[in-house]
Amino acid sequence: MQGLMQSWPLRVSNIIDHANNFHGDREIVTRSVEGPIVRTTYAQIHLRARKVAQALARLGIGEGDVVATMCWNNARHMEVWYGIMGLGAVCHTLNPRLFPEQLSYIANHAEDKYIFLDTTFVPVLEAIEDTLPKVRGFVFMTDRAHMPATKLKNVICYEELIGPEDGDFRWAQVDENTACGLCYTSGTTGNPKGVLYSHRSNVLHAMAVNNGDALGMRSVDSMLPVVPMFHANAWGITFAAPAVGAKLVMPGAKMDGESIYELLDTEKVTATAAVPTVWLMLLHYLEATGKQLPYLDRVVIGGSAAPRYMVEAFERNYGVKVFHAWGMTEMSPLGSLGSLKGGMEDWPLEKQIDVKVKQGRAPFTVEMKITDDEGRSLPHDGKAFGHLKVRGPAIARSYMKGEGGNILDEEGWFDTGDIATLDSYGYMQITDRAKDVIKSGGEWISSIEIENIAVGHPKVTEAAVIGIFHPKWDERPLLIVVPKEGETVTREEILAYLEGKIAKWWTPDDVVFIEEIPHTATGKIQKLTLREIFRDYRLPSVDAAE
Ligand code: ADP
Repeated sequence: MQGLMQSWPLRVSNIIDHANNFHGDREIVTRSVEGPIVRTTYAQIHLRARKVAQALARLGIGEGDVVATMCWNNARHMEVWYGIMGLGAVCHTLNPRLFPEQLSYIANHAEDKYIFLDTTFVPVLEAIEDTLPKVRGFVFMTDRAHMPATKLKNVICYEELIGPEDGDFRWAQVDENTACGLCYTSGTTGNPKGVLYSHRSNVLHAMAVNNGDALGMRSVDSMLPVVPMFHANAWGITFAAPAVGAKLVMPGAKMDGESIYELLDTEKVTATAAVPTVWLMLLHYLEATGKQLPYLDRVVIGGSAAPRYMVEAFERNYGVKVFHAWGMTEMSPLGSLGSLKGGMEDWPLEKQIDVKVKQGRAPFTVEMKITDDEGRSLPHDGKAFGHLKVRGPAIARSYMKGEGGNILDEEGWFDTGDIATLDSYGYMQITDRAKDVIKSGGEWISSIEIENIAVGHPKVTEAAVIGIFHPKWDERPLLIVVPKEGETVTREEILAYLEGKIAKWWTPDDVVFIEEIPHTATGKIQKLTLREIFRDYRLPSVDAAE
């Protein structure tokens, strides 16, 4: 027997309609590319998104066409998102930090018809224009007065493009499973692969993000997403915030400690989200200036593991709740978030922090398990670690154009490529990427755990651990350290600092110091490059053994 409820397709255009109807005057505040702070509302975004859809239709864009953006987090970028998606087309976010060859590969593979770009990125596209024969034009996200000189051909001024339209546009009444968004994984190995989101997956993901145990946004919130819209959908915040009418504060191009602090303070931000490197800059700024965070209620840290000292600094020194989150482009991206469970509120802070440094729990719509190499499920005891596998309605079942073949097992599980534990409360902790795990004497050593402790040393800025060949143990850990500017620190100091904090046999066989650790376009430590740099490195323990 069928239920007798309405069939109401889950489309992202419903989200912006809702924001317009019930939160029309709620603000979106942007630090603009042109410089000043610009204020707009959901009603304005709703109107201008429909103008974008009209203008694109005039340019010949229709259902199923791919239109790209290369923009910072700002209100215009939101208008373009909703405009493209509301037309039934696909919004492809390009990450300007990718290598030029990768960008042109991605834009060609996706068959981008137009690229909307902030003027900051004109040089990035000028450098690859010749490799993009199918791109019909470049829309500069500014007004006539701020149009820069450029070598690009077929340039359109955004405000002039949408200016003549009246906004009288009915969103495309597409099936909820229609594609609406596209984001490529950075492809540390092989070509980048496209993750193709649907209207339905984005709506369900937005609802999962707004789950009270996840980001739990409400209309009273003022949310600052530092996480970029050009990578993994700004963690779904630009869908989730309008769904509840939360104020949005968009940082544009400036993510240094002072600029972020200024927005947190003047816009009375209550919730914010970014990768650890951004929070490191903010914490340095706060320490140096003695400023506080009186309005901020919670900070979400994800994308890379949040070190313990960072969680402690926010919780102890600034009274801000930390939610450690984990996810992937393939998961829209939220996979887990570490809010406390009932009964834990009375725990001593130290014990709460033990929970908060883990990557958190799966919200409803994410199924999660860990397995051994043979695919057998492992216990949820917080000790056994194995391959982290996930299932859910906002998780990829295939990559764009079938790239990479079948990515699910017979039961529909997607292997995240991460190694993790799950404890009896349901909290997941990442120990490593499967390809970065260090295998020593048949046992696994977690590089992430050692790195997170090492960066707690007051003279250390960043640390990475890689496995180095060892004739007896297969691999032993090498700790690579970037000292803080102006500081000198010795191998012995670092090893003494680790003592007692990790199992003795996890202790790195050596510590080396370098000026900079290479990062991927999404800000992650590039272990592949580090392994190449240290390919011929011989551990002193090997020499000693001979
Ligand atoms: P990329 O395109 O760089 O792969 P993703 O955002 O999709 O970008 O990367 C997802 C991966 O990032 C995860 O599989 C995991 O290894 C890592 N990651 C994300 N969040 C965390 C976290 N909180 N702690 C540790 N690793 C994380």
